[in-house]
Amino acid sequence: MTLAAGRPYLAIPGPSVMPDAVLQAMHRAAPNIYEGDIITMVQGMVPDLQRVAMTRGKVAFYIANGHGAWEAALANIAGPGDRVLVCVTGRFGHGWAEMAEGLGIIADKIDFGTTAGIDPARLEDTLRADTAHSYRAVLFSHVDTATSLLNDPRPIRAAMNAADHPALLMADCIASMACEEFHMDDWGVDVAVTASQKGLMVPPGLSFIFVSPKAEEARAAMPRVSRYWDWSGRIDPERFYQFCGGTAPTHHLFGLRAALDMLHGEGMAQVWQRHVTLARAIWAACDAWAAGGTLRLNVADPGLRSHAVTAIGLGGRNGSALREWVSGNAGVTLGIGLGMESPEDPKGEGFFRIGHMGHLNAHMVLGMLGTLEAGMQAIGVQRGAGALSAAAAVIAEG
Ligand SMILES: *Cc1c(COP(=O)(O)O)cnc(C)c1O
Repeated sequence: MTLAAGRPYLAIPGPSVMPDAVLQAMHRAAPNIYEGDIITMVQGMVPDLQRVAMTRGKVAFYIANGHGAWEAALANIAGPGDRVLVCVTGRFGHGWAEMAEGLGIIADKIDFGTTAGIDPARLEDTLRADTAHSYRAVLFSHVDTATSLLNDPRPIRAAMNAADHPALLMADCIASMACEEFHMDDWGVDVAVTASQKGLMVPPGLSFIFVSPKAEEARAAMPRVSRYWDWSGRIDPERFYQFCGGTAPTHHLFGLRAALDMLHGEGMAQVWQRHVTLARAIWAACDAWAAGGTLRLNVADPGLRSHAVTAIGLGGRNGSALREWVSGNAGVTLGIGLGMESPEDPKGEGFFRIGHMGHLNAHMVLGMLGTLEAGMQAIGVQRGAGALSAAAAVIAEG
C-alpha cells in the first residue's frame, strides 16, 4: 500500500523546497513597475544579496536559470579565441566549460575526477606553465552538485597567487550560496554566480552574478559584450528596467524579498551551521548503513563533502530502485545520479543524491532518513543497523 499522500518532500539538489512565506509573497496582483514600492524593494535587495555572498562587489540580476548566469558571467570577461581554465570535479564543471566553448572561448580543463576535489598544486603548476598569462579566468564549482564535492576557494586563490597569475577567480556558487559558508571578498573570489532555486529558496528563473572591482575592469577591457548578457547596466542601473535588462520578473522578486528576510532573520552564520549539522546527521546515517552493506558516500573525506547535497552509491541499479520506491510509497523525491556512469553501471543507476539545501530542518532530514531505511528494507538492500539513532544523536547534540 502506498503511503505517499500528504505533503510531498522534494529532496533533490534544486529546485529546493519552497517556503510558504515565499509562495505567499508571490501570490498577489501584478504591481506597478513604473514607480513606487517595487523599485525601492529591488534597490533594497542589493545590499541583502551582498550580505549573502559576503561581498561589497556589485550584483547583476538575470532572468535566467543557472545555465544563463554561467553564460552571462563568461560573456562579460572573455570572447571568441580567449582562454579560460576550468577545474572540473564533476558534471557541473564540464557544463560550465561547454558554455564557454559555445561562446567561442577556449576552455582548457583540468579534470580532478569525481571523488577527490581540486588539487591546488596541480592548478599552480598549470598556471605557472601559462607564462603568457593567456588564461582570463580560473573557473570552479564551489559545490559540484553531481559529485557533492565541496571545493574550498581559499587554496585555489592561494595557488593563483603563488603562481602570480592575473586570471580572475570565478566560482559557480549555484548549489552552495546560502548553504555553505562563503566570503567572496575575503576569500579572493572575483566573480560568483548563483541562481534562485537552491539555497535562496525561490522558484527557478532568477540568477545573480556578483562582480568584484577587478572583474569590472575585465569587462571594461572587452571590445564588445552581447547586449543582453552585459552586466554593466544591471550592476549600475540608471533606470529601473536596467536591473533585469527589461521588464522585471516581479513575482520572483517578491519571493526573493521574503527569502532574504528569512535568511537574514536567521542570520547567515546560523544558516550555514544548520546546513552543517543536518549534513552531519545524513553522513552519520550513511556511515552506519555503509558498515553493513554496499552503500557508499561518493566523497570519503568529510572535509571535502558539501553540506547542501550528498551523492551516494548503492550498487547494482539500487539507486534508481530506491528513488522509485520512496517516491511511489512515501512522498519523497530523491535526486538522480548525475555523471556517475561507468562501464559496470552505464546509466549510473547505482547512484542517487539527497538535496539538503535551503528550507530544511531536523524533522525533514530525520523523516527522509527514516524513509530511506524503509525503502532499503522494502527493496532488499543489505545495510548496517543503527543509522537513525546515529543521525538522531547528531541532531540531539546540535
Ligand atoms: C543547479 C546547478 C547548475 C545549473 O543551474 P540551472 O538552474 O539548472 O541551469 C549549475 N551549477 C551548479 C553547481 C548547480 O548546482
